[in-house]
Amino acid sequence: MVRFTKEDILRLAEEQHVKFVRLQFTDILGILKNVAIPVSQLERALANEIMFDGSSIEGFTRIEESDMNLRPDYNTYTTFPWRNGGRGSVARLICDVYLPNNEPFPGDPRYVLKQVLAEAESLGFNVMVGPECEFFLFRRDPEGRPIPITHDEAGYFDLGPVDKGEDSRRDIVLALEEMGFEVETSHHEVAQGQHEIDFKYDDALTAADQVATFKFVTRIVASNHDLHATFMPKPLFGVCGSGMHTNISLFTAGGQNAFYDPEMPFQLSQVCRWFIGGMLAHAPGYTLITNPLVNSYKRLVPGYEAPCYISWSAQNRSALIRIPSSRGKGTRVELRSPDPACNPYLAFAAVIAAGLDGIRNKIEPPESLNRNIYTMSPEARAAAGVANLPGSLAEAIDAFERDEVIKAALGPHIVDLLLEAKHIEWDVYRSQVHSWELDQYLGVF
Ligand code: GLU
Ligand code: MG
Repeated sequence: MVRFTKEDILRLAEEQHVKFVRLQFTDILGILKNVAIPVSQLERALANEIMFDGSSIEGFTRIEESDMNLRPDYNTYTTFPWRNGGRGSVARLICDVYLPNNEPFPGDPRYVLKQVLAEAESLGFNVMVGPECEFFLFRRDPEGRPIPITHDEAGYFDLGPVDKGEDSRRDIVLALEEMGFEVETSHHEVAQGQHEIDFKYDDALTAADQVATFKFVTRIVASNHDLHATFMPKPLFGVCGSGMHTNISLFTAGGQNAFYDPEMPFQLSQVCRWFIGGMLAHAPGYTLITNPLVNSYKRLVPGYEAPCYISWSAQNRSALIRIPSSRGKGTRVELRSPDPACNPYLAFAAVIAAGLDGIRNKIEPPESLNRNIYTMSPEARAAAGVANLPGSLAEAIDAFERDEVIKAALGPHIVDLLLEAKHIEWDVYRSQVHSWELDQYLGVF
């Protein structure tokens, strides 16, 4: 869909008194990077003439490829609502990264997602994604550094005055709407200081752009309220962590929901069943991508509404994949494992590649389990064929290394760099002495 032409952008930039344009892209970890240009360079940028030195960016490290070319996606043009004071405003464009020889850069996560979406299209499907991002708001110390103390004592769906985050959450929603998001709901989550903002589903590429933008907008607006927004998956022991439930549906070129079939069990089509089959079969393999940190695995434990077993269910929230109740156009699968620390481009690419593999190889899912899996004994789980998700970053690295489908979807450039970074992260972590160990052992042994 074309939202903006080059002429539209030049005209809008003039009308909106834009002084600077930020050309954005993400590194391998999903962190948004910027190259800022004065508006006088906008026409050159729109003609794909802007180069930058990528050699110091995570995942962009091959010295011989240090000169990179940014090619703006015109549809992503928007201005930052917090920068429209007297001195002109700031706009942004999300870019694809190219090599000087005009080839797409294989380390660009957006390119990886586009490749997987092209594959879906070759099978006749457009992929829609609706992410649900949770996050915490924490206080900051006098130097502005975040401290793990939440700003309120509210709980699920509570309202002010207990919910002191309500003001910041409202400002985040308003900023997102000004930037073109269609925010559907926002509410206080289960834990103190925890929030969720859900925006309308969109094609998978737009949804990934929106997650990257959402995280950056949330951090800025929270900091304007002197709070720190974090997408760390499990910042506090003993309470829920933050997930990024990911709703996925496939549409045919004719606009039909390919997951819906009123004649089938649960009204889920054969395509949907195979997609679920692929998502379950490759769940161990893509968990490194959907749950990329040491800390991600502190969230994936029983008792906090986060999944830890590989199963699907038409109802139960303890399952890895849940089927929300709406049917017809709204038929979709909800993957409950991803957390908001993931790189949304790579996470969507890996999960969609898993589902497409299910369709291609007609992978039938096991029976749907409509009971609380947390309360099943290990024997009962084994009898029902329910395996565990990786329990640590080390297990996730192992499973990823063994999954050729997921690795092929990401491509060798990203696979190599990611594995190198994740092995280092795990080695550094496991050789640390943590405060829990001192509490438990120092006095006793
Ligand atoms: N915070 C929970 C998680 O870690 C999810 C809660 C919910 O169902 O929205 O996934
Ligand atoms: Mg939630």
